[in-house]
Amino acid sequence: MPVLFLGHGSPMNAIEENEFTEGWRNAARTIPRPTAVLCISAHWETDGSFVTAMEHPQTIHDFGGFPAPLYDVQYPAPGDASLAHEVRAIVKSTEIRLDDEWGLDHGCWSVMRHMYPDADIPIVQLSLDVRKTPQEQYALGRALAPLRERGILIVGSGNIVHNLGLVAWEKINTQYGYDWALEAKEQINACIADRGHERLLAYASQGESWNLAIPSPEHFLPLLYVLALQKDDEEASIFNDKAVAGSLTMTSLRIG
Ligand code: ZN
Repeated sequence: MPVLFLGHGSPMNAIEENEFTEGWRNAARTIPRPTAVLCISAHWETDGSFVTAMEHPQTIHDFGGFPAPLYDVQYPAPGDASLAHEVRAIVKSTEIRLDDEWGLDHGCWSVMRHMYPDADIPIVQLSLDVRKTPQEQYALGRALAPLRERGILIVGSGNIVHNLGLVAWEKINTQYGYDWALEAKEQINACIADRGHERLLAYASQGESWNLAIPSPEHFLPLLYVLALQKDDEEASIFNDKAVAGSLTMTSLRIG
């Protein structure tokens, strides 16, 4: 099974139709139908690592100030407790605990709703442990590799360039990137193409444009989980590679 990193952008993408949502849908159309999805979302940060293990994960509207229709969205995909237990069993580098309180946050359901509109594929979320180093997160991602052989789709959902403090509000719906955002995007894309994973792991010491692009790690880290799963003979193909609102990029990639 291929592995995906999806730039999710604004929560409004959940209910809009645009070239990015088309890119996600196309990704779903061109891979085998998964038996289940394991999603690592930027929007679930925890102290320690958790997987959701409930039968019916709730749809979490974890944002504020958006139009009412976005709060009406429900994405009733089932959970998969056996997959949660399997994740716990195959990861040896750290303890993964079972969670029965989270659900599906918008990093997950805003993209899944376009990819699998019938919400009929079980989904488990894996949290981002704020205590782990990038190297530890990468190692955790690598340990998930056996799931691919079982038809499970692993999806990292974040944004490679993501600086909400510097959003160009007058260009909120425009494909526009600040010079530093475009520079970071090109350099990071080059690292993805050249398998420069070491440099990506050291993202915090790559200069000003990267520091502006990654002011906090949570939207970047899901990319490391995905790249950790790249095998020697697998290419990473980039899509949705556009900057929006000045300080965000929607860059997404498929491995395998
Ligand atoms: Zn987000």
